[in-house]
Amino acid sequence: METIIKLLNIRKVYRAGEVDVPALKDVTVDIQKGTFVSFVGPSGSGKTTLLNIIGALDTPTKGTVTVADTNIGLLNSKERAMFRGENLGFIFQDFNLMPVFTVFENIEYPLIMVKKTPKERRKEIVHSLLSKVNMLDQKDKFPDQLSGGQKQRVAVARALTTSPRIVLADEPTANLDHESAYMVINLMKKLRDESGVTFIFSTHDTKIVGEVDIIHTLEDGIIQKSEEVKYG
Ligand code: ADP
Ligand code: MG
Repeated sequence: METIIKLLNIRKVYRAGEVDVPALKDVTVDIQKGTFVSFVGPSGSGKTTLLNIIGALDTPTKGTVTVADTNIGLLNSKERAMFRGENLGFIFQDFNLMPVFTVFENIEYPLIMVKKTPKERRKEIVHSLLSKVNMLDQKDKFPDQLSGGQKQRVAVARALTTSPRIVLADEPTANLDHESAYMVINLMKKLRDESGVTFIFSTHDTKIVGEVDIIHTLEDGIIQKSEEVKYG
């Protein structure tokens, strides 16, 4: 097993007016390449803060973060942006699709902006991803013509367009009904199996995590327990 993410004694304190809010108190965790990992905990437990730190969107107050062999604490903001473009894909709770772009264009966008790719190759990549998430027949629709589950499938495809090593999904199922939530999780798992990408997602819904490899339970800025799931 190869460690792809290593968090060592991570502390994150936000300043809210006159008070310090410790969002993460002392988090140490290793994540192995190609695993499907979830951080589970109630609202306010520190899930978003943790994923933002792994995703080089935020920096810890204390501790070291190593992602894909890079100590991201040593990067400046421009280098962090480059690092994200090269290594990471993101999936959000509210899908974050661009409303004036079609499904095809939403997925194509990172290949224009982040990894400059010729048009014909872009089409190949987008079509291949759309068929993997079973949305090829919806490619010319706009986001507001899709259900929540369909939007999230598009967002999953978009997160994979630049062939990231790690995909971070912050509560990707929070705005979905149960059936769509399971579909999205199973889809992420299938893509993990096919591509070897490391998937990390967070949820406050303990019922949703049946299919993952590792569950880390967050409570009040601390990992209370880590369980390896045996499914079969
Ligand atoms: P979760 O995603 O599990 O709901 P968060 O990581 O968003 O938890 O928040 C953890 C704690 O940090 C909460 O107490 C929250 O209020 C606080 N917090 C998060 N972001 C900020 C911020 N930008 N400023 C001040 N406090 C914040
Ligand atoms: Mg959150």
